Amino acid sequence: MNVTEQQREKWKTTALQRDSDDALSSFRDKFYFPKHGDESALYFCGNSLGLQPKTAETYVREELEDWRDYAVEGHFHSRRPWFSYHQWFAEPLATIVGAKPHEVVPMNTLTVNIHLMMASFYNPTPERYKILIVQKEFPSDRYAVETHLRFRGFEPNDALIEVGPANGEFASPEDIIEALRDHGSSVALVLISGVHFYNGSRADVETITRVGHEVGAIVGFDLAHAVGNVELNLHDWDVDFAVWCSYKYLNSGPGAVGGLFVHERFAEMRSLQRLAGWWGNEESTRFELARNFTPSYGAGGWQLSNAQVLPLAAMRASLEIFVEAGMENIFRKRDALTGFLQEVITDSIGDRDWIRIITPKEPSHRGAQLSVRFDRNGKEIFTALIERGAIVDWRTPDVIRISPAPLYNSFTDVAEFGCRFSDVLAKYS
Ligand SMILES: *Cc1c(COP(=O)(O)O)cnc(C)c1O
Repeated sequence: MNVTEQQREKWKTTALQRDSDDALSSFRDKFYFPKHGDESALYFCGNSLGLQPKTAETYVREELEDWRDYAVEGHFHSRRPWFSYHQWFAEPLATIVGAKPHEVVPMNTLTVNIHLMMASFYNPTPERYKILIVQKEFPSDRYAVETHLRFRGFEPNDALIEVGPANGEFASPEDIIEALRDHGSSVALVLISGVHFYNGSRADVETITRVGHEVGAIVGFDLAHAVGNVELNLHDWDVDFAVWCSYKYLNSGPGAVGGLFVHERFAEMRSLQRLAGWWGNEESTRFELARNFTPSYGAGGWQLSNAQVLPLAAMRASLEIFVEAGMENIFRKRDALTGFLQEVITDSIGDRDWIRIITPKEPSHRGAQLSVRFDRNGKEIFTALIERGAIVDWRTPDVIRISPAPLYNSFTDVAEFGCRFSDVLAKYS
């Protein structure tokens, strides 16, 4: 059955009320929305590429100006000296991932950081050499893990445990814990996504870490879809390491600089092997022609190269907005907004049993993303949404992902999405 006119009016009235009660409603104006014809598009792809903060251009331009005006002197004498440029990011990133400032550092890109962490934290022995991931993991993570297994002389067929139900679907939190207990003493390392990119389910980071440690494994997380999206407390949860990219919920632009967390207990463990570079050396001796690498204290000791100032300038613009908004406010709005989207989508689907939301319904088991699976006509429906200016994304073979970002999406956006989605669905019974 199709959505009635009264239903649409109800969505819109509810949305107006909730927008006027929303503590973050003004933050929307801090971002540029893409255009659809003469109007702003309805943007729900913050899980893939966050919108541009309006201040990003100024921040990047200022670094270009300082490069123009100071050249090499800019390392120490520009407005925000490049020598210490990365240091500003420690506080805001630590707040976002629940860490101490010396446990985090912005650098490289996500997949590079997975490799660096694997080099340090995957230390197989003949008895304990397996790596545990979930089935249907993001390809880059699986490639990274498989290549490290081969580097160390293992075959993924034997050494890679891909957790999930026998029907090939997504692993539940219980599946992961059970697999950890089953494989226990053979598992060297666990690498799990904080929020799964496809079905949007949130991992129980704390429990996975605890059980992983109980069986003697190192436990790391890929926070690509979790950072800036869900509650994280990496230090207190005792996570060994984590990596992320910053162009999704962190709104730092295409190819943005990624990030890394290494727990404090490794901060001074100089015996840990690593792939080193000069920027990871202690600052006091970094410029000496020392023959021995002395890592800096904490995550900074994994840095390879001097800071990528131009892309970091865009990230700075974004992180200032996170600091101003406050994570508590962001999370509260996320649950309200995603809950409203769930209602609107469920109403729109009506009795079409070939369409369903596959993201967990419980807010603590998901973030801002809802994944909707179509047994048929999915791609066509996706295309029709794009044509109507509702920007969502398509994941083969059968899912549309829709992510309302609490910093810039409104309840009215969600109501409007419902209207366009219902228009598209009207021709399918
Ligand atoms: C987005 C994403 C990536 C992307 O990796 P890059 O190195 O930033 O290109 C990798 N893994 C996961 C799980 C992702 O969601």
